[in-house]
Amino acid sequence: MFTIGIDVGGTSIRVAAIDSVGRVLSSRRAPTPRSFDDFCEWIVRAVHHIREDTANGTVIGVGLALPGVVDAELGVVKRCVNLPFLEGRLLRDELSKNTGLAVRLMTDADAATWGEYSTCAPRPRAFVHLRLGTGVACGIVVDDRLQPTDPDRKTHWKALVVDDRPEAIACPCGLRGCLETIASGPALERQTARMGLANGLVELQQAWERNEPTARDIVDGTSRAIADAICNLKSQIPNGAVVCLGGGVITALPCLLEETAKHLRSFDDDYTRRVALHQSRLGDDAGVIGAAMLAREARSESPLLSVPRTEVNG
Ligand SMILES: [Zn+2]
Repeated sequence: MFTIGIDVGGTSIRVAAIDSVGRVLSSRRAPTPRSFDDFCEWIVRAVHHIREDTANGTVIGVGLALPGVVDAELGVVKRCVNLPFLEGRLLRDELSKNTGLAVRLMTDADAATWGEYSTCAPRPRAFVHLRLGTGVACGIVVDDRLQPTDPDRKTHWKALVVDDRPEAIACPCGLRGCLETIASGPALERQTARMGLANGLVELQQAWERNEPTARDIVDGTSRAIADAICNLKSQIPNGAVVCLGGGVITALPCLLEETAKHLRSFDDDYTRRVALHQSRLGDDAGVIGAAMLAREARSESPLLSVPRTEVNG
């Protein structure tokens, strides 16, 4: 028995069969189709191929992670800037009908958070996933439940505002001074371009290793902002939380992890009791694994954000 996880990105889409402990059994990837019909057709075909790859084993359900605002109850994408053809369509029902499987919609941030969290052994009481990529996403799990945010998710969490000066840069979410304006891939690439580094973050990591002052300054400012955001979240998470940093920025610039830990220690002597900082273990797999694991755990529940601890065999 396995669950199928689908991770939809602005440029590529990935489908994978995931077993009960979060292992990838089989996986397929393609450029994201550009119309609703092509999108649904591709998923139906990919699910069919995945079932063939896995000798037609029993499929428990499908979790579909999307980059936008999702109404899991209605099974509809409310907003998706990069894939507007998905907005307002009965996506879940269309896919359920054509695959014959239970389909659950969720945001990519929730899926990645749940993937990283649910494959921790043992699962920590509190878990924060900060994903730094093209944008910045944050998910929190406390007592085995994904924490609800603003129901419309129109903006980032206020805790992610790390620059409160009036001249702070406006984030696409509408708030000013969000972590995304400092620690996302595009924000950092603007800084590396000013340094004249053609290869962006990878070259920035190399320049940091060579102790070049400008690189040191950029990494210092960025890691300080990440540490500020983690401190801002402290009221929402109990002591002993695991904070997991993931996304393409951390993969290309791993020095951010130790530098962020250094800042946290300098803010708070109690840091080691409060939070443990980890690097993402699943990398690019977090979305498909989390989508599948969340679909598996939530399949008997109606609200996405109410996920009880259950043991599932298979
Ligand atoms: Zn923002």
